[in-house]
Amino acid sequence: MRVAVISDVHANLRALEAVLAAIDDEHLDAVWCLGDTVGYGPRPNECCTSVRERAALCLVGNHDLVALGDIAVGDFNDEAAAAALWTRDELSADSQSFLRGLEPAARVEGAELYHASARDPVWEYLLSEDAVRATFDLTTAPLVLVGHSHVALAVNARGDELDGGLAPGGTEVELDGRWVLNPGSTGQPRDGDPRAAWLLLDLEQRRASFRRVAYPVKETQAELRAAGLPPGLAARLAFGE
Ligand code: ZN
Repeated sequence: MRVAVISDVHANLRALEAVLAAIDDEHLDAVWCLGDTVGYGPRPNECCTSVRERAALCLVGNHDLVALGDIAVGDFNDEAAAAALWTRDELSADSQSFLRGLEPAARVEGAELYHASARDPVWEYLLSEDAVRATFDLTTAPLVLVGHSHVALAVNARGDELDGGLAPGGTEVELDGRWVLNPGSTGQPRDGDPRAAWLLLDLEQRRASFRRVAYPVKETQAELRAAGLPPGLAARLAFGE
């Protein structure tokens, strides 16, 4: 089975469409989405429709939960909170019912999936050695997939040793032993590469391939401005920060 893993689409339809076109070119068996389909970006309903159609498995993230009113806006920084309130008003009944049906964690044969981490599936950023170690300790599957930080990562556990780190576009990993993988963010990358991120997993060949695809950033920026969303959200997309 060959699977595309996407995460943190954040209502960036232009980025999602570019990633889905790249996924189509690979003729894969399934798409899995690790959550935060909405929040920050200008096209939440179209992204919900597209992810609902395409993803066999989809998690809910903290930005989805704040848009549903299940998390308080006060837990977010100013730009994220402003975008969350805008998204709450914008979300259609169909989008709400789609997001409401999702969980922040899932388990499939050979893999455990979390929006954020095993210790805190909604909020914890898996960016420190301590956090990665805790997630390995709390899981048993050979493969653990997380999103949330918007930073593509591949970390391998060999006994007590952790090995690996950032996984820029083009990184290829042999999945021997246990791995934590973060595909990076489709709609708001924060690892210095502004291109939309996704991950190709070959579960038979035990290989992971970190992919990046260019998309029309300027069009998403224009949509953000037209929606009246905070200017910083448009600016950061150009730099992947
Ligand atoms: Zn996110």
